[in-house]
Amino acid sequence: MLRLLTPHYRIGRVWELTPERLQQWGLHTLLLDVDCTLTRYSQGEALPEAVAWIEQLRLSGFGLCLVSNGMGPRIRGFAERLELPCVAKAMKPLPWGIRQALRKLQAEPSQTAIVGDQLFADVLAGRLAGIRSILVDPIHPEEEPWYTRMKRLPERFLLARHEAYLSDTLSRQHSDIHTD
Ligand SMILES: [Mg+2]
Repeated sequence: MLRLLTPHYRIGRVWELTPERLQQWGLHTLLLDVDCTLTRYSQGEALPEAVAWIEQLRLSGFGLCLVSNGMGPRIRGFAERLELPCVAKAMKPLPWGIRQALRKLQAEPSQTAIVGDQLFADVLAGRLAGIRSILVDPIHPEEEPWYTRMKRLPERFLLARHEAYLSDTLSRQHSDIHTD
């Protein structure tokens, strides 16, 4: 169960994901969450940094598609301004929206990752669909509705556990090196 809620990668903001880093990870396609990932909650446009980043990835040949639980008209408008395909009302963490996006882009699941800010929506949906996931820090999570903010506490708990596990593993590997 814990594995289903563990992101493959973690990063602060989407625009830190350079084409070079994504290529190193063997990724050619990104499915992008919208709210708190590309912009503040419930906005009509992506932040300028996100717009520039999307353009950079597009020029580098990456496949991109928005996959959002947001309502159709807002997400479609958002996608049109970015000139990207989209799946709205995706019902993450169910995997169907992701599968729909994979079909739209004819993308290879092993070379695709979902990028989003929520363990219980984006990461879980990615795991259930069999693709990788990249967790970003949420942009202004205090603006989210109560039902999303409720999930932030268990999310922080799980991430802290995950980090403790990672640093424990790393320090053990480190001490192994020294004892060998
Ligand atoms: Mg989000």
